[in-house]
Amino acid sequence: MQQDVDEPGNIRRSQFACRTARTTLRTFKYRIYPSGKQLTRLDHQFSLCREMYNTLLKRCREGYRTDGTRLNGRNRLYRMTKDIKDEEPKFNTVYSQSRQNVADRLAKAYQHFFRRVKERKAGRQVKVGYPRAKRRVISITYPQFGFRFTGEDKLHVSRIGSIPIMLHRLPQGRIKTLTIKRNRAGQWFACFACEVDEDTRTPIDGEVGIDVGIEHFVTLSDGSVIENPRHLLKSEKRAKRLHRRVSRKKKGSRDRRTAVRRLARYHIYVADQRRDFLHRTSRALVDRYGTIAVEKLNESNMLKNHCLAKHIQDASWNTFIDMLRYKAVAAGGELVEVDPRNTSQICSRCGDIVPKALSVRVHQCPRCGFETHRDVNAALNILARARAGRARSHACGNPTSTLATKAGASGIAEAGTKRDEPFGAIDAGSLRLYRLSDNS
Ligand SMILES: [Zn+2]
Repeated sequence: MQQDVDEPGNIRRSQFACRTARTTLRTFKYRIYPSGKQLTRLDHQFSLCREMYNTLLKRCREGYRTDGTRLNGRNRLYRMTKDIKDEEPKFNTVYSQSRQNVADRLAKAYQHFFRRVKERKAGRQVKVGYPRAKRRVISITYPQFGFRFTGEDKLHVSRIGSIPIMLHRLPQGRIKTLTIKRNRAGQWFACFACEVDEDTRTPIDGEVGIDVGIEHFVTLSDGSVIENPRHLLKSEKRAKRLHRRVSRKKKGSRDRRTAVRRLARYHIYVADQRRDFLHRTSRALVDRYGTIAVEKLNESNMLKNHCLAKHIQDASWNTFIDMLRYKAVAAGGELVEVDPRNTSQICSRCGDIVPKALSVRVHQCPRCGFETHRDVNAALNILARARAGRARSHACGNPTSTLATKAGASGIAEAGTKRDEPFGAIDAGSLRLYRLSDNS
């Protein structure tokens, strides 16, 4: 749902939302079913937007080359779109605001380019990458106007017509922009970016530390685990099979094209399943715990992963943590990211370092005798770190700060007692939650 906030029109608004701190921007996505005629119009609009984008880019580049003028400011780009439209009447068929949005997108591309140049100068290893001509455009945005609901299941869009829409739920808040997009499998979607008032519910008290792992999807500091759902593993296996089927077909053949399309559709299906699981899991956790502590994931380590399965896993965790963050904030809670160093090696009860290889799944402390699953131990450490960090920042030079930290440290035992509670609040049916260890 959050994937559309990178549209330029929305960025300015989300900055605005930050300033007021009362509203957040959320995107609501719906499937739409354009008719054959509407498909032709949409395709035509997309190709015109692409042409507009590429023309703007070309003029910017030429302008800079000939006399060094920078044309990439937003207002200059707006003026240029108007000029291009006046020169070529075919652009009149694009809704005026969508045309402006094309300029917004290019302005944003330039902003990122200049940011990367700066980073490069500062010594960071980034590819500078000058904005490139687009080979295809996959979405078109209507900022503010140009669309309205006509009836319960129709969305009227300027220059396109009334498109049947599946309103599986109503968008909340004030609709700011509409983006119409197509995915690789040829499905169409309407995405409404809405300004939503932030929830002012009082935060709940519960705290939890979460360890993400390979064996289990996540392990909680209270000893329970959330597994990767079985249907997801099965789906991934099937995707692999479909992929093999593609590679067996002759290149350029019609069979291969069909297989490629089938694979693309299946990939989207699996991605939807995964996202659904992540939404449910993050929702269940945020409803139960006011403070959620996670490891700060190391980005540069993750980029080194070439193995596909690992890559998917990493991407899931990233998305999962993003979901936890925005859901926790919306519910008045918080997500704390802690330093991941040694969380699996340190004993969460006495603080001793107990070295163990990745294959060793049990934490056994020779000093204090604490024994638990290694991931539970890590989750407990993560929770303790979050508490210690908060105690430090809350104290702020206050003499009680050491006291607070001590209370945080002893809180580990407190988390241990929680283990006896039944885990009724999380929908166990959909999440497959069970106890890992009884610590006995
Ligand atoms: Zn110990």
